[in-house]
Amino acid sequence: MTTDQLWQTTLSEIELQISRPNFLTWLKNSQLLEKTDDGKILIGLANNFAKEWVENKYHKIIFEILKNYDDSIKKIEYVVCGDKVVIFEKNKEAAKILDKQLAFLEFKIDSETGLHPRYTFDSFVVGSSNELAFAASMAIVKNIGRKYNPFFIYGGTGLGKTHLIQAIGNEIKKNYKNKVKVKYVHSEKFVNEVVSAIRNKRMEDIKNKYRNIDVLIIDDIQFIGGKERSEEEFFHTFNALYENNKQIILSSDRSPAAIPTLHERLRSRFEGGMTADITYPDYEMRLAIIKNKLQEIKNHLPDEICEIIASKIQRNVREIEGILNKILFYREVKNIALDKKIIEEIIGNIIQQSNKKISSGQVIKIVANFFEILTDDITSHSRRKKVIEPRQITIFLLREMLGMSYPDIGEEIGKRDHTTAIHSYEKISREINKNHSLNQKIILIKEMIYENS
Ligand code: ADP
Ligand code: MG
Repeated sequence: MTTDQLWQTTLSEIELQISRPNFLTWLKNSQLLEKTDDGKILIGLANNFAKEWVENKYHKIIFEILKNYDDSIKKIEYVVCGDKVVIFEKNKEAAKILDKQLAFLEFKIDSETGLHPRYTFDSFVVGSSNELAFAASMAIVKNIGRKYNPFFIYGGTGLGKTHLIQAIGNEIKKNYKNKVKVKYVHSEKFVNEVVSAIRNKRMEDIKNKYRNIDVLIIDDIQFIGGKERSEEEFFHTFNALYENNKQIILSSDRSPAAIPTLHERLRSRFEGGMTADITYPDYEMRLAIIKNKLQEIKNHLPDEICEIIASKIQRNVREIEGILNKILFYREVKNIALDKKIIEEIIGNIIQQSNKKISSGQVIKIVANFFEILTDDITSHSRRKKVIEPRQITIFLLREMLGMSYPDIGEEIGKRDHTTAIHSYEKISREINKNHSLNQKIILIKEMIYENS
């Protein structure tokens, strides 16, 4: 048996012993890298988190199975070997196309500015829904810090806020080179930095880092609302920059007035500059976006098909891009000739999927699966450590993903009092900012929930 066969056989046995989502998450892309003469096995895993998880949870099973096949094996070591995801091992064509599409997502982020070069004014389609925001963005580049300060863009998800604020940064970099210091940061990253600086008593570092900047761009600023220390720190940074005529650019999914947890003094600062919203693109603009995107990826679709996509997908630009990728994928991988009927079918399926509602039962089941406990454990009144965290995470997700009320959550999780639900929700919300591994778990569980819904 080659090492590859040995590992494939082992995997197929592990697959029988652990839940399917866990198997896919942790082991799907694992590899047996090496077997040494003295009986050491080296297993490569996608990332640090997978390594930690597999080491702690599955080492015993893996060791037993491997030993069964080859009793010269004495020891297993786990290493991280990059997370190049091999989604379509068997289909080289598919992999190539996926690579082409993913090339856009590849990390080419500039480490100094935090900007992604793909977001430019050139690749941004302008129409009535974003005209004002676009005009203001152009004006800022010509008049940094003086004309529209702060500049606050808001609008629903997938409508191009990140694209536009990064485009401002990229354009400034292009025009002013190193004379102007630009920094883009997502507000969650900013909050994490503040939290860890407080913990490590290194607040001075943050102060220095952000106060030396000429153009500060913070994305999704709504997440800062309610996070006391981060808001406080941001407020001081804001003032320091503002007083020195440095440019501040912010984006949010809603207007400053609609961020309920935002401190009054920050709200009035935000409202004191220029605010512009981005709304839903109309048909003409959607069509232009589709054509633009096809050009960008050097691909082509008949006009008739572009028109169907533009008329059917009305929600947001990210969704248009998603559908476009899927359609190209169907054509190029599955070799399906695209006609009107097939396109409508593909779009119909996708819309149906994304409209499907997630139920509380599904959330409970997936969390239980993830932690390999029973759904009954989650709804039981057991105080075992093993079930407390999964239960709290379930409560957190029911609130966050489904927007359920606390009394309903309490009822669902074993007829508990609503205060228990509040307590659990708040505990996880607090810890998620400090505890990297908890944060990772929750991200993975959410992915599983979306995948399974
Ligand atoms: P948001 O930050 O508002 O959620 P993004 O900026 O991430 O949205 O946009 C989602 C996707 O749609 C990105 O790939 C972006 O490039 C694209 N996009 C959005 N608006 C436009 C536009 N007007 N022209 C071209 N592409 C756009
Ligand atoms: Mg965004």
